[in-house]
Amino acid sequence: KEISSRENNVAKIKVVVRKRPLNKKEISRKEDDVVTVNENALTVHEPKLKVDLTAYVEKHEFCFDAVLDEYVTNDEVYRVTVEPIIPIIFQRTKATCFAYGQTGSGKTFTMQPLPLRAAQDLIRFLHQPVYRSQRFKLWLSFFEIYGGKLFDLLSERKKLCMREDGRQQVCIVGLQEFEVSDVQIVKDYIERGNAARSTGSTGANEESSRSHAILQLAIKKHPEIKESKRNNDGNESKSGKVVGKISFIDLAGSERGADTTDNDRQTRIEGAEINKSLLALKECIRALDNDQIHIPFRGSKLTEVLRDSFVGNSRTVMISCISPNAGSCEHTLNTLRYADRVK
Ligand code: ADP
Ligand code: MG
Repeated sequence: KEISSRENNVAKIKVVVRKRPLNKKEISRKEDDVVTVNENALTVHEPKLKVDLTAYVEKHEFCFDAVLDEYVTNDEVYRVTVEPIIPIIFQRTKATCFAYGQTGSGKTFTMQPLPLRAAQDLIRFLHQPVYRSQRFKLWLSFFEIYGGKLFDLLSERKKLCMREDGRQQVCIVGLQEFEVSDVQIVKDYIERGNAARSTGSTGANEESSRSHAILQLAIKKHPEIKESKRNNDGNESKSGKVVGKISFIDLAGSERGADTTDNDRQTRIEGAEINKSLLALKECIRALDNDQIHIPFRGSKLTEVLRDSFVGNSRTVMISCISPNAGSCEHTLNTLRYADRVK
């Protein structure tokens, strides 16, 4: 198992934790930073009270593939998480990179620059003679799962549906894909998609924290003219056959899964959906790690959509984002326990 899961020296599943710095508000409230990082281990110092109300600290220790402290830049995050996967995308790998954590822990901050850097590197590979002669091209799509429904972030939030073909390939019907050959265009699409993310009357972060945003970069082999006439469905559309791809997923706020007792019915429904998808995701990654034949994709829309990225030659990177302040301790511990269970 060890050998097969470490093909090309890139672990099949990598779990990374990123701690953000205390923000201005937390500093002004004189909140303690309760997370200390030591290489690939970290300790959470949880403030607690005894029955007689004397204060004490409970220590929780965790170990991961990598732990990135508040001084680590987004460039370094890229180097640790996504960069090693780029070359094997051209060798039929389907990769997925998740950002998990409570709202405000830095998921979007961490996730947003990654696809742009990845596109830059993928485009550089495309220009190598070996790939140019193979008619490889880079394609981008960007959509959102909100309340269990799919919306195209690059096509006026058009509602999408999913279809499975005879070979158990998932296909999102009507999802717009764009061929991208230079980084500036990639940047424009990412900005357009981000602007289209769910933003209700309650404010941007509030709503987007209840959705999963999925940006996919796919390397496809551009078909010959006659081939494109023959193939007219799913993965083998006119854009060509998928060689490999990488999906970047900015997950809904993990605390939203607990919204199931909220007074508002809609919020409860969304909370239940988020809870279901985060549990299903954990189960699928665990099944992958155990090389199980049966991967429980059907547990949620999120995992169904990602089905083709979990079979065959797949790579998964989980970036668990945590807030350092004492007030977030409970959420931080939940996030770390989730990450721990994934591995
Ligand atoms: P989330 O997407 O998990 O809700 P955000 O990515 O929006 O959280 O981050 C919340 C706030 O914290 C933002 O203002 C963001 O700029 C800031 N932030 C997050 N991570 C870092 C970091 N590592 N360094 C500096 N600021 C950060
Ligand atoms: Mg966010």
